[in-house]
Amino acid sequence: MSSRLPVYDVIVVGAGSMGMSAGYQLARRGVKTLLLDAFDPPHPEGSHHGEPRLIRHAYDGGETYVRLALRADEFWREAEARTGSKLLERSGVLNLADPDVYSFQGKRTDSEGLGVVTELLQADEVQHRWPGLTLPERYQALYEPDAGYLFSEQCVAAYKQLALASGAHLEVNTPVRGITAQEGSVIVHTSKGDYAAGSVILSAGAWFKTLKPFVTLPIRPVRKVVGWFETNGPAYDAGRFRVYAGDGARRLLRFPKHRRSGAEDWPS
Ligand SMILES: Cc1cc2nc3c(=O)[nH]c(=O)nc-3n(C[C@H](O)[C@H](O)[C@H](O)COP(=O)(O)OP(=O)(O)OC[C@H]3O[C@@H](n4cnc5c(N)ncnc54)[C@H](O)[C@@H]3O)c2cc1C
Repeated sequence: MSSRLPVYDVIVVGAGSMGMSAGYQLARRGVKTLLLDAFDPPHPEGSHHGEPRLIRHAYDGGETYVRLALRADEFWREAEARTGSKLLERSGVLNLADPDVYSFQGKRTDSEGLGVVTELLQADEVQHRWPGLTLPERYQALYEPDAGYLFSEQCVAAYKQLALASGAHLEVNTPVRGITAQEGSVIVHTSKGDYAAGSVILSAGAWFKTLKPFVTLPIRPVRKVVGWFETNGPAYDAGRFRVYAGDGARRLLRFPKHRRSGAEDWPS
């Protein structure tokens, strides 16, 4: 490794949701860490742009995935405590499904075994408790009272604060233009010069193609259209309405009205 280059233990390429938190976790363990980002996170060019991001604990994918979600929740609580920022709104989440198309049984069994509280509800009970929703009679819901949504940009900002306070070095507006891997080390080439490290974490998100030809994965970024709709009455306000997520055939998410003009709808 050339001694003329700035040398780190780990370089994180892309300091968005994944990279910024990884950078913090490394730096707090005393790892000499450089975070590189093409913009100045949080920013509107990343997947972290905007506000609500659903977080649940009862997931399909077996116990391992549920444990992962619970561990993430622990980290969100810790980041809130360390920064004094509100990051997670525990609004409760309603998972809705047509039982002919999708069964909640698997995620219910896996998550309840790990202490996740859930309630299985019929359509009429859902409509009674949350009048803003009208469901087909045959629908069922799995309600998770402790789930909710994260304020995505604040999450990146909080991890930025924690990473910097833990000694990570952050270079913003520094696009990575190439990576050279050699025995035991990597050189990361940027618009501002080269940096060397023992290892590199690639967390460029939907922009991973900017790392070609070093990274050639069969991944295709897709556009997700988000719609904001005016609401007519308090039934959809934060504190009353729950996040709902359609499982099975109709995969839609809907968030309560929060700061902006109405409930948000987008295909998950
Ligand atoms: C509309 C929408 C709704 C979503 N809702 C949910 C949800 O409800 N629940 C949920 O869990 N997830 C949700 N997600 C997904 C979640 O937001 C993403 O999985 C997460 O933000 C991705 O983080 P990331 O670090 O991979 O990407 P990003 O946050 O985009 O970070 C990548 C970073 O890499 C930087 N970068 C890229 N290329 C380079 C380069 N060549 N050099 C230097 N830097 C570079 C970018 O500038 C960026 O800052 C949603 C996503 C969208 C878009």
